[in-house]
Amino acid sequence: MKKRIGIIGGGAAGLFAACQLKRLSGGSDIKVTLIEKNPVPGKKLILTGHGRCNITNRKEINKLKEGYHDADKFLYPALKEFGPEDTVRFFENEIGLKVKEEDNNRIFPVCDSAVTVRDRLVSYISGTTEIVCDANVKGIRKTSCFEVETSKGTLSFDNVILSCGGSSFPKTGSTGDSYRFAESLGHSVIPVRGALAPLKADGKDKAFCKSLSGVPVNAGVALYSEGRKTASKEGEILFAEFGLTGPAVMEISREVPKDINGKDVYIELDLVPSMSDEEFDKVLLDLIGQHSDTKITTLLSRFVPQSVASEITARAGAEGLYAQGFTKENRKNVCREIKHLKIVLAEAADLNIAYVTRGGVPLKEVDRKTMESKIVPGLYIIGEALDIDGISGGYNLQACMSEAYLASKNILNTN
Ligand SMILES: Cc1cc2nc3c(=O)[nH]c(=O)nc-3n(C[C@H](O)[C@H](O)[C@H](O)COP(=O)(O)OP(=O)(O)OC[C@H]3O[C@@H](n4cnc5c(N)ncnc54)[C@H](O)[C@@H]3O)c2cc1C
Repeated sequence: MKKRIGIIGGGAAGLFAACQLKRLSGGSDIKVTLIEKNPVPGKKLILTGHGRCNITNRKEINKLKEGYHDADKFLYPALKEFGPEDTVRFFENEIGLKVKEEDNNRIFPVCDSAVTVRDRLVSYISGTTEIVCDANVKGIRKTSCFEVETSKGTLSFDNVILSCGGSSFPKTGSTGDSYRFAESLGHSVIPVRGALAPLKADGKDKAFCKSLSGVPVNAGVALYSEGRKTASKEGEILFAEFGLTGPAVMEISREVPKDINGKDVYIELDLVPSMSDEEFDKVLLDLIGQHSDTKITTLLSRFVPQSVASEITARAGAEGLYAQGFTKENRKNVCREIKHLKIVLAEAADLNIAYVTRGGVPLKEVDRKTMESKIVPGLYIIGEALDIDGISGGYNLQACMSEAYLASKNILNTN
């Protein structure tokens, strides 16, 4: 009798698993069923990379693993067995999509189309995988096999790959069901919160960000919680209607405490990160001396975009002032606002707009060499269901790929 393999959730991880099962088995001796609650698989996948799909990151494995925070050791065997080069080969040779490398080693398909990626994955598996869409899985029970109850009836499997995703961007279908199923089967779940998320500002700081909405700046970004610096990053930020976004902000969002109510939690921006406070003050003082009939805003626009210079000057109480007569106190205030711009946060990283989920099934409950549950033999857990969140740049899809490979290989090798 053919081995019956159920893949629960047709997102990136589930689709990659179906692909690897086909590739590694040649399609024989297994019957693979992929169950997806949406009308079509890959609803989140088609949004990735701003619709272009940043499929992986071509860094050397030892460097790449650093992008997975505390999950680096857990993921190492998976990345080693199926790393970025394997992903590139899979895309080019198996699903016929040539890839290109962009800045920071990010890999995209040449067609720049995440929809094409999803469609090619689906068409690759369509002959070997039964794809059951519009089927909401309601529960999974382990008896002599796995009984998967769906809105279209109950299905039985010898192995289950749990790939229902996390809780981020729930409008795509990832509504935290992985955790519910894992818990019902005996796993524990680390409380989830958003990661790689834009951050909402509070009160007057929100108004400040809104006034600069759409303006990108290279900045030092530091997160402070109850007076302690808990994370920092330098890179591009973008002011937005609601607060702050951009790669540097999103990267540290995972460190914002889950509940910030009543706590002093803020982002401090250094808008001139190439200089220390003292260097900036000295350069500004020199400029003031050389350009006495120039407005301070004009002098500041040598360091930051004009619109930012205007808002910073206003925030420092120096609106309309000229270099001539600019006091030491004025200078101190401008330096504070440009080098230590405080943006108070309104809430923790919002899962509705977070790109990935932090938390989930603890890694100690899963075998890192096979992705098999240590609690439920025959159950494999991959993708965002696990307590893994990578940085941006193709890391999260690569993790799905590597985990899907290990799970598929092990299922095929086990009786
Ligand atoms: C806007 C955006 C852009 C991103 N861009 C990138 C990028 O360019 N590169 C990168 O590496 N990562 C990117 N990511 C992250 C990446 O998309 C995710 O890490 C990845 O999709 C996780 O895959 P997954 O299969 O675990 O979960 P998902 O992709 O969320 O898939 C889970 C699937 O399970 C289904 N499901 C859930 N519950 C049930 C149920 N009860 N019954 C049946 N089906 C169910 C869902 O409908 C969904 O289709 C991005 C994320 C977002 C939100």
